[in-house]
Amino acid sequence: MKALLDRARSFKRRVDFESGEYRKLAEGQYPEALFITCSDSRVIPALITGARPGEIFELRNAGNIVPPHGRPGASGEAATIEYALEVLGVQDIVVCGHSHCGAMGALKSGDDLSALPGVDAWLELARPRLTPVLDGDVRDPSLPDIAQLNVVNQLAVLRSYPATQQRIEEDRLRLHGWYYEVDTGQVHELDTDGRFRVHAA
Ligand SMILES: [Zn+2]
Repeated sequence: MKALLDRARSFKRRVDFESGEYRKLAEGQYPEALFITCSDSRVIPALITGARPGEIFELRNAGNIVPPHGRPGASGEAATIEYALEVLGVQDIVVCGHSHCGAMGALKSGDDLSALPGVDAWLELARPRLTPVLDGDVRDPSLPDIAQLNVVNQLAVLRSYPATQQRIEEDRLRLHGWYYEVDTGQVHELDTDGRFRVHAA
């Protein structure tokens, strides 16, 4: 923690806060996209996209899961999605899964998560849509397969939100599925045919 703390204490000195870029941040935020990804420390949206402060609005949780719309109780996910759409007016949402994901690994192996009841209950939101693959005909699906299917599934959940549905119909919102390899830096993009592919820059 000490290194992190030292860097935080010297941050202001290391960055040119006198520049117009930072001064402008006081006027508000106008992010281009909502970026939904895993809490995993190896996935850094700003590093991957080269985003500057103010350019992406982030929503992170274990397994980049989007809870079903209308789920009872307060939800950081529902609030963040609502704010991104209604207030910030983002026109693009990325759901980004990743390689070596612990959450997807636990779902794949059917780990006993009774010692982690919070994690267990949370992953339960993603489990039903993965069950056909986890328990079905596909023998021993790979972890990348599961993480990628989870991205497709979470996009489907997101699409079922009335606010997203309406905006997609009106061509005011686009959804994107990404799969990021933490050890190679490769970004795979979900194509319209449902397959993830690497696109040249
Ligand atoms: Zn993860």
